[in-house]
Amino acid sequence: MRIDIITVLPELIESPLNHSIIKRAQKKGLVSINLHHLRDYTTDKHRTVDDYAFGPDAGMVLKIEPIYKAIEKLKSKRNYDEIIYTSPDGEPYTQRLANTLSTKENILILCGHYKGVDHRVREHLITREISIGDYVLSGGELAAAIIVDSVVRLVPGVLSDETSALTDSFQDGLLAPPAYTRPADFNGWEVPEILLSGNFKEIEKWQMEQAIERTKRLRPNLLKDE
Ligand code: SAH
Repeated sequence: MRIDIITVLPELIESPLNHSIIKRAQKKGLVSINLHHLRDYTTDKHRTVDDYAFGPDAGMVLKIEPIYKAIEKLKSKRNYDEIIYTSPDGEPYTQRLANTLSTKENILILCGHYKGVDHRVREHLITREISIGDYVLSGGELAAAIIVDSVVRLVPGVLSDETSALTDSFQDGLLAPPAYTRPADFNGWEVPEILLSGNFKEIEKWQMEQAIERTKRLRPNLLKDE
């Protein structure tokens, strides 16, 4: 899988994607993540990427020309399955969408900044708009990092069996059951006895009951969505 990201702040995405599982996925060649600085697609000497919004509202908007140039250049090299714009008014991001994106070969993500991008970008150049939640960030970089992290860990071969995504929350429409490790007794706080029994069938049954109970209590909407 290849992911290209267009941004005015590549530094903000570099670090979150260069640790642990996502770093290893890149090293193993399972995924290639490429950052493109929007300023590299400007033609004026100040490398201007933004301008004042038309109308009375204060604030800057990312200009269409450099974005158009960047997207066209990348598109001339490969076909993108999705060209995503991160936006608070986009489709709410879910594990289901992460699953869908993890099956794609080439994804391009455009990060907004300031007041966002010139709306013509969204009307003509984008195939999908994604929001990571009902709150406003100062830029799309952290949203892009979240999307990439959650997608890359689902790419086959990225997670080992021990960290399998199949038992994670949301993957089966349920929250994950609680997990414990040694010591079995810490200051009198004990691990549920069943986990020490060695009876895997009973443990799995307990885990399923816990998952259902937690989902009913904490996120009942997940049970209704299905
Ligand atoms: N004026 C816009 C917000 C701009 S915030 C509005 O009111 O809708 C600046 C940039 O941060 C956006 O262009 C977008 O790329 C990113 N961003 C902010 N909040 C986001 C969210 N919840 N999900 C995804 N991207 C977000």
